[in-house]
Amino acid sequence: MSAAATAARTAHDAGVERLLASYRTVPATSAVRLAKRTSNLFRTRTRADAAGLDTSGLTHVISVDPEARTADVAGMCTYEDLVAATLPFGLAPLVVPQLKTITLGGAVTGLGIESTSFRNGLPHESVLEMDVLTGAGEVVTAARGEPGAGGAGGEHADLFRAFPNSYGTLGYAVRLRIELEPVQPFVALTHVRFDDLRDLMAEMERIVDSGRYGDLWVDYLDGVVFSARESYLCLGTQTAERGPVSDYTRQQVYYRSIQHGDGVRRDRLTAHDYLWRWDADWFWCSQAFGAQHPLARRVWPRRLRRSSFYGRLMRLERRFDIGDRLERVQGRPPRERVIQDVEVPIERCAEFLDWFLANVPIEPIWLCPLRLRGEAEWPLYPLRRGRTYVNVGFWSTVPVGATEGETNRRIEREVSALDGHKSLYSDAFYERDEFDALYGGDAYRAVKQRYDPDSRLLDLYAKAVQRR
Ligand SMILES: Cc1cc2nc3c(=O)[nH]c(=O)nc-3n(C[C@H](O)[C@H](O)[C@H](O)COP(=O)(O)OP(=O)(O)OC[C@H]3O[C@@H](n4cnc5c(N)ncnc54)[C@H](O)[C@@H]3O)c2cc1C
Repeated sequence: MSAAATAARTAHDAGVERLLASYRTVPATSAVRLAKRTSNLFRTRTRADAAGLDTSGLTHVISVDPEARTADVAGMCTYEDLVAATLPFGLAPLVVPQLKTITLGGAVTGLGIESTSFRNGLPHESVLEMDVLTGAGEVVTAARGEPGAGGAGGEHADLFRAFPNSYGTLGYAVRLRIELEPVQPFVALTHVRFDDLRDLMAEMERIVDSGRYGDLWVDYLDGVVFSARESYLCLGTQTAERGPVSDYTRQQVYYRSIQHGDGVRRDRLTAHDYLWRWDADWFWCSQAFGAQHPLARRVWPRRLRRSSFYGRLMRLERRFDIGDRLERVQGRPPRERVIQDVEVPIERCAEFLDWFLANVPIEPIWLCPLRLRGEAEWPLYPLRRGRTYVNVGFWSTVPVGATEGETNRRIEREVSALDGHKSLYSDAFYERDEFDALYGGDAYRAVKQRYDPDSRLLDLYAKAVQRR
């Protein structure tokens, strides 16, 4: 091991020690939580009654092994730092969530998705092993493998399988070893327009099955719906060919660059800028803060054109209830937050979009196909192997209805009726029984009992539903 690698490992061990030391200072009767600087969670995050654990030494990449194409990464390392460490080797994580401050541990425990998910599945599927601080205060190594098969993987394979979608309620990942894939320095983009959502879905399915659009090899695939008559598939192809590239951290806005008349529009980005293409304007949500207005954009500091900054603005807005106050002044009702990502089987997705466009006044809508990559079962988010789903993302507000969370509840019902799933980073309204049926309640309880017997961490239902 080189001196630099030894130093990185030593620094990481010191970070784990600090985390454990902070855990030990918490009385056994108190609950604990992560004290993190950033978050991409939309439901209420902090527990006033829970003590914050010191994660300050767990934010770095420990090592990259270009031969084995793996990286050892601290649990609270952001994807921005992770990608910065791997790209110089011509490598990238198999799935890089779009927002720079999402952490590796957060994406594995809270699920993540991106335009590689049609071929690489979800972020937890490329984890080889992870060290987890459990609710019982022990650090255990959980790896792929069957329970009882011996070795670290065997002994804690139940934790490994139940970790995705547990949202930190079983323990905290402090180190993860992940697979990486080779990437070329540039991405050539082809945006294809559709005026019928069924045509778009049919083409998406063909690309997922074949990896091609006509003669074009497709490495990355997502899409945007602007209306029932205007939607796009955004295809990315890796390339080493040099040439002019666009830069959407300046005056132009990425999602606007997708829109065009009939046919296709071509574009190019560096691999780095492709991975972060959605971050500069938080998909399209920066519009709410005026950041897309040409004049505001000219004076808006470039370093603040990023999702984490808009996230801070949004938390301020919510703290002071600015949006609803403005609605009141204009004699309008307050608004319900509808910020969700749902997964719908591809063959039902056009049906879901028809329903959504007719019932929920939100657009644009993000589309991202996914298929589980491996053979493993993930009990807390049981997608079916061999089946293609489409992640449908919508992030805005609507006028409040007669009951709390009316639109969110209707979406939950519609998604369940179509045999879909909803991710839990935002508001959820399920009854306990339904929640248990959808999110592996029995499997969860067994693993919870083993790794957090004294309930130092919240229960998943309490965290995802009751604490909204
Ligand atoms: C508007 C919006 C859009 C989103 N879009 C995408 C998207 O396009 N693609 C995508 O992939 N994801 C997306 N997400 C979801 C995001 O990946 C998850 O919310 C993820 O959990 C956030 O990770 P974080 O590191 O920011 O964690 P946080 O927000 O800090 O925490 C999320 C949860 O994970 C727990 N947690 C954090 N770190 C760890 C750890 N090391 N070990 C165990 N538990 C931990 C926390 O306790 C908390 O319950 C989106 C979320 C939002 C709000």
